[in-house]
Formats: sequence, C-alpha cells, structure tokens
Amino acid sequence: MIPASFSYRRAESLDDALRWLAEDPQGSKLVAGGHSLLPLMKMRLAAPRRLIDIARVSELIGIREQSGAIVIGAGTVHRDLAGHPDVRQKLPALAEAAGKIGDLQVRNRGTIGGSLSHADPSADLPAALMALAATVDIAGPAGERSLAVEEMMVAPLVTGLAPDEVLVRVRVPIPAAGSRSVYLKHPHPASGYALAGVAVAVTLEPAGAVTAARVAVTGAGVVPFRATDAETVLIGDRLTPARIAEAAKAAAAAGEFAGDALMSAEYRRQLCRVYVERAISALVD
Ligand SMILES: Cc1cc2nc3c(=O)[nH]c(=O)nc-3n(C[C@H](O)[C@H](O)[C@H](O)COP(=O)(O)OP(=O)(O)OC[C@H]3O[C@@H](n4cnc5c(N)ncnc54)[C@H](O)[C@@H]3O)c2cc1C
Repeated sequence: MIPASFSYRRAESLDDALRWLAEDPQGSKLVAGGHSLLPLMKMRLAAPRRLIDIARVSELIGIREQSGAIVIGAGTVHRDLAGHPDVRQKLPALAEAAGKIGDLQVRNRGTIGGSLSHADPSADLPAALMALAATVDIAGPAGERSLAVEEMMVAPLVTGLAPDEVLVRVRVPIPAAGSRSVYLKHPHPASGYALAGVAVAVTLEPAGAVTAARVAVTGAGVVPFRATDAETVLIGDRLTPARIAEAAKAAAAAGEFAGDALMSAEYRRQLCRVYVERAISALVD
C-alpha cells in the first residue's frame, strides 16, 4: 500500500496546471481531493511521475448562477454542492446525490471534477448530472471545449478527457418551471458506493402531463447511462401507477447491466427497476 515515488507541485492557477501538464501529459496526474487517485496509487494501479495539486486553485472552486445555468467549479467539494441553497432548490437530484457520497471526510475533500474525471461506474454524481442535462467545460492547450456528461463517461475509469486537459466547470441548465428531480440509491453497506443509483428529472404541466423526462442509472452497468426508453414512456399524459411501472420496466430492459462478485446482472436489473419506480413515484403528487 505504498505508492511508487513521484514529484509534487501545487498549482496556484489554471494556467499553472495546464502548463505543467503540457510538459509531461502521460507522466502527470492532477490531484484534487485525492480520494480516488491516491487509493489507485497505493495499490500501484496508477504510478504518475508527477502530481499536480489543483485543490487550492480558487478559479476552479465555487457555485454561481449564470446565463440560465448553475455553474459549478470543478474543484467544488461534495459537501458544498450538497448544502448550496440554489442547488438544493433548483437541482434537488444533484444535492441529494452529493449528500449521499461516502462519508463526511469524503464529502469534505472529494470534488465534482474529480468524480467526473475518475469515471467510477458506481459514482453518484454522473447519474444526477445526466438526468439534469449537464455539460462540462474542458480546458486544454487549444483552448476550451464542452462535452455532455454522457460523453465524459466512456468506460470504467476512462473519460473523454485528454491527458493534457483540465475539467474546469460543470454547467447545469436551470430546469423549466414545473420541473422536479430526485436521486435515490441503494448503497453498498461498507463503501457507500451505489449498487444501484437512479436519478429522474421531469417537467410537469399544471394538470400533470409530462413534457420532458430524463432517467439515468449508476452502479448497474460498466458506466452510468441514460435509460432513454423509460424517458419515452414517461412523456405524455398525467402519470399513473401503471405508466410508472412500465417506465421502470423499460429502464430495466436496457442492455447495460453488469454482474460482478457483489451481485449478478439480473439482480442489478431488478434493483434498477425497483429504484426507478420509487424515484418516479416520489416526483408525482
Ligand atoms: C471511502 C470512500 C468512499 C467513497 N464513496 C463514494 C460514493 O459513495 N459515491 C461516489 O460517487 N464516490 C465515492 N467516493 C469517491 C469520491 O467521491 C471521490 O472524491 C471522487 O470520486 C474523486 O474526487 P477527488 O476530488 O477526490 O479526485 P482525485 O482523487 O483527486 O482525482 C481523481 C481523478 O480525477 C482526475 N482529476 C481530478 N480533478 C480533475 C480536473 N479538474 N480535471 C481533470 N482531471 C481531474 C485526477 O487526475 C484523477 O485521475 C468514495 C471515496 C472514498 C475514499
């Protein structure tokens, strides 16, 4: 459990981080909260030559409202996300997901940028962010570009980031009037990671008709994914228990479920069905 030797530099700015990454992109790793990278280094599954610490880069930290979106700096820790009044009021699924991550120590140090850049198949935030149609802004040597959160999650621990890029911020569009969202998870009793995590966001007309719906699942497949067939079932007239059950069944029919030492793919599929049904039911009166 002792990492290979490495050098360490603390960045004071995004420019520092980008410049130092460009010097040795393959041999360098950014470190933010360290809660995912350091365990990998201790197990020698990662052995960067150089760590670039971005935890104190103030331009990467904070939450603000801008141009119809809640904009979250990549270095913002889970605790601040879970407790922020705008996030709690406008993006409840995101606040709930952040508040359910690990324990207090993890939430005090772990960051939204670190979670998305690490791409754990069971991470909570990607599902909530997919349901809320979030995008990420990425800085690199050629300037900035944006990706949907779905495009970030390529494979377990593999993302859409190049080795010389920094995830700078996450943009979550402020949902239209009548929108509601929720995140529910079945946690692993020891680690707290999601054995199934489900985020649902819907927009309801005053009479209850559903004009928009997004459903995302984590902990169940090789990467968090959108259950688009379930979304299609949800859009339409006022939701009934039968349609909610149909949507949950559609989510469970998605092909992405994975089995492992903890449980079979079939068990995860059933867990997903139950949690999608509970999550949608929690959003309707
Ligand atoms: C005991 C324990 C329990 C946990 N439980 C949960 C849980 O229940 N749910 C959950 O979702 N997570 C859980 N986690 C993971 C936790 O949320 C991590 O904090 C998070 O996954 C990574 O964030 P970090 O800031 O610690 O990233 P780090 O460990 O610092 O970095 C992770 C990876 O992201 C890269 N990176 C970091 N920031 C950036 C950036 N801005 N741009 C580009 N690359 C970047 C790093 O180079 C590294 O490859 C748990 C962790 C622990 C230790």
